[in-house]
Amino acid sequence: MKYDVIIIGAGLSGLTAGIQLVKSGKKVCLLEKHKIPGGYATNFTRKGFNEKFYTFDSSIHTISGFNKNCSVYKTLDNLGILKNIEILENKQYTTIIKNSKETIDIPNNFEEFKIMLIKNFPNFSSNINSLFEFIKNLYEDMKDLILKSDAPKYQTELESISLYDFLKKYVDDENFIEIFSYLCSYLGLPPKDLNAFYYMVAISSFLLGGSYYIKGGSGHITKIMKNELEKHNANIHLSSEVIEIHSQNDKIISVTTKNKEVFEAYEFIFACDPNHIFSLIKNNTIINDYVNKLKFLEKSISASQLYIALDCSTKEVDINTSHLFINNLSHQDSYANIKAGNFENSNFELTAYDQMDCDLNKNGSFLCVSSADFITNWPERNTEMYKQKKEQISQLFLEKVLKFFPKIKQHIQVLEFATPRTMQRYTNNTNGSILGWAQNIQQGGFNRPSFKTPFSNAITIGAWSYPGGGFEGVISSSILGVNRILSKKENSNNIKNEILPLNVIMDGMVAKFNPANAVDKHIIYKFIFDGYNPIYLEIKDNTAKLLSAEPSHVDTTITTTHETWYKIAFNELSGQDALMDGLVSCSGNLRNFASMPKIFDKEIPDNFSSNETNNSSNEPNTSNSNDNNVSENNTKEIENTFTKELMPIKAIMNGMLAGFDSSKAEGLDIRYKFSFDNQKPVYLEIKNNTAKLLSREPSKIDTTIITTHETWHRIAFEGLDGEDALMDGLIKCEGNLKNFALMPTLFNTSEEEDNSTSPNLKLNPVIWVSLALVPWIFYWITHNIFSPSIVSAFSILYTTFFINFIKPKNFRSITKLESINLAAFSIYNLASFLNPVLFKNIISPFFLDIVLILTLFISAGTNSSVMSEYSKISFHPSVTKTKLFKIINRNLTLLWALVFAIRFILMLVIPSPLNNLSYLVIMLGIIISYFYPKSKLGH
Ligand SMILES: Cc1cc2nc3c(=O)[nH]c(=O)nc-3n(C[C@H](O)[C@H](O)[C@H](O)COP(=O)(O)OP(=O)(O)OC[C@H]3O[C@@H](n4cnc5c(N)ncnc54)[C@H](O)[C@@H]3O)c2cc1C
Repeated sequence: MKYDVIIIGAGLSGLTAGIQLVKSGKKVCLLEKHKIPGGYATNFTRKGFNEKFYTFDSSIHTISGFNKNCSVYKTLDNLGILKNIEILENKQYTTIIKNSKETIDIPNNFEEFKIMLIKNFPNFSSNINSLFEFIKNLYEDMKDLILKSDAPKYQTELESISLYDFLKKYVDDENFIEIFSYLCSYLGLPPKDLNAFYYMVAISSFLLGGSYYIKGGSGHITKIMKNELEKHNANIHLSSEVIEIHSQNDKIISVTTKNKEVFEAYEFIFACDPNHIFSLIKNNTIINDYVNKLKFLEKSISASQLYIALDCSTKEVDINTSHLFINNLSHQDSYANIKAGNFENSNFELTAYDQMDCDLNKNGSFLCVSSADFITNWPERNTEMYKQKKEQISQLFLEKVLKFFPKIKQHIQVLEFATPRTMQRYTNNTNGSILGWAQNIQQGGFNRPSFKTPFSNAITIGAWSYPGGGFEGVISSSILGVNRILSKKENSNNIKNEILPLNVIMDGMVAKFNPANAVDKHIIYKFIFDGYNPIYLEIKDNTAKLLSAEPSHVDTTITTTHETWYKIAFNELSGQDALMDGLVSCSGNLRNFASMPKIFDKEIPDNFSSNETNNSSNEPNTSNSNDNNVSENNTKEIENTFTKELMPIKAIMNGMLAGFDSSKAEGLDIRYKFSFDNQKPVYLEIKNNTAKLLSREPSKIDTTIITTHETWHRIAFEGLDGEDALMDGLIKCEGNLKNFALMPTLFNTSEEEDNSTSPNLKLNPVIWVSLALVPWIFYWITHNIFSPSIVSAFSILYTTFFINFIKPKNFRSITKLESINLAAFSIYNLASFLNPVLFKNIISPFFLDIVLILTLFISAGTNSSVMSEYSKISFHPSVTKTKLFKIINRNLTLLWALVFAIRFILMLVIPSPLNNLSYLVIMLGIIISYFYPKSKLGH
């Protein structure tokens, strides 16, 4: 029998997906390696010393997403899974015992947690308020994630930054960050390594949506799911590990299980670790790139857990809350110690299950001591070393708990210890990873490998897919993944034959126009389909119509294939996914593309048929439409104002490279092509943790960025956000859009002030005045003793000294050329003093004065010193300041050229010794050069 869908893995994600599919009328088969379903989400039982049985929950401590307003809850409820399940809300504090003495109670509630933090960090009260406001907005945006088609609003802002750096922006206090990051113990990475998006979504969900436990344990929900599947005639094969996967070209055909059974299906879902699954596919080179990419990704931590059954309640052994964190070290240090196998000196967590579900164990209670762990800490299973280590670490965990709760000792009935090897053994998750791919800075959010595989009829879901591990994450992942399959009409083989003509698709879209979602909108779309004449669609005055002639302007141009548009129109593919996967490219205002699902969301009337108004659009394209001009109107306008100030492309690109952060490029292999206006394309390669510009076009380009010189300059220096530029149509991106989204992480373009490279705007006036006065006073005191040449040499050396050593580093670098001139000038003066005869004979005394003045003028004209210094030394993000700086520097150089020119004239026309009054001009110049940049920079 050929199934509609085969799901490999009956963990939480596989079971959820199965129910969705059977309820949509699909013939489903689940293949599970273990003898019970659930994966990590299972219960197990053990007999106590008192001959009574105790139930343990193998994984969950607490879960999010089960608030009635959350999309996970709503979907499970709609699927009928929740009718036999009681969800218990956990309102107790989460307690942190710090350094064995200090106790911090963290309320499981948004307002109370905020108040608690403000009380403890009063100096940051307003920033804490802003942080919590952000959490509120994030929650509102995320809680319906899986029911809406828009991308999460804050994702790009958060996914390229560590939790630590993100929190620091609000409250720059290590203690605060440590407390606020308390959930890190559950999420697998310490704050400096954890992706801010992942943490902030998790904490917002817990604080605003609530923290829950499932009555009966996680094994109960997976048991109910199994029953529901069987009720709907799904085939669940337990103890049926898939050991071979057979494929042909880009399709999976069948799978073979350990008991030599072969199963066939049209579609496949991998609800388990893709590292493992892809090792079962042989002789198909289509997977090579994908598998190579996976190799470089970091896997999440594993865990070790000591399960303790007690013959009394946990309250009786003085544990007063369900969740306890025993933190003797910072998250960061504890993580490092565990990684090094130092369990003696690391944090751990305690979960008292009876305080969430008092009926889980009628004969007492169950307590779990958990710690993050790494498989590398553990010898191979079944070896003597492994057994010994297991015994030793289990004992250590017990001792650690007994130190805090000694009464436990008399009540122990069962002790069971699970290591990363246990986790791996039961689930095939590589390294016993408990949350799929690590949620580090690079791999969070959109940067996670998600559903797509190299096969057109297979997707991955669950902890290793999007959005990530944990109950809420894997259930969301199943729902999103299955929607992809359900929206495919039939076996995708047939799509080509069934595809509707373009004019019918477009008429269908117009028929779905919903005026309520397009109030006040005026948008003109242009569609370019493979080889057809463009189609124009106008939204105006609450109507949508296809235009028969080319309009005078277009807001958004969508380029794709007939087949892709067909799939999007008939919900077989989400527009956003198609854009991310490079199947659709969009230029002009990208927001108009993003709002299409809303604008065209009306149910198609039953009697809908094409009115065939747009026959012309179905003709093959004969006109030579070139749509590579990005937002022409916008750009031209800007170009007029700015062209003169633009830094050359080469300098911008070099500047970008200077800001390259190799630590963020681990495992990346990307080739970018940049097309700027009509200039020669620039190719950039990220490989082996380095970034370099290529001198010729590489054989493969992953991402092409088409924009104007002006836009790129603004992104590089003026703080224009790349994503906004994309949205506003100033940039067009072809190929893998994720690589574009990755750029701010790879090339440090943060707007933070970098003291080493930014101008010091607080120059001490005393220094400047003394700079001006000292040479002059020196002259008046000494002119009778020393010759004017010596005085001149001194004063200029003095000035040079100040420019080079007293003034800030950056100012020093940008005025390098000028200070070299000054130094040369003073050396000349000195030399002419030491050997007046020679100099008088060789060079006119005024010769170097003239040279100096000329070079200053040239320097002002070309500004070369500033340009090269800037692109070499730093890639400073603040465009405004950079541009201003250029102007300031040019004008200052000009000023000094004028100063010396006037002094020179004065020396010629005023008789000695009065001509030394010319130093007054220098003083004036110095004073102006102090006030001028300040006034320009607005400080
Ligand atoms: C110790 C621990 C504590 C946790 N605590 C929490 C928590 O407090 N809150 C929370 O939300 N989440 C928690 N999690 C995470 C959560 O349990 C998981 O993210 C989630 O259960 C993963 O579900 P899944 O379906 O993606 O994968 P899995 O549970 O890993 O299921 C994969 C399934 O595929 C099967 N399989 C693998 N290979 C094959 C094959 N070749 N053939 C057939 N079957 C195969 C496996 O046997 C398994 O049943 C915890 C996890 C652990 C381990």
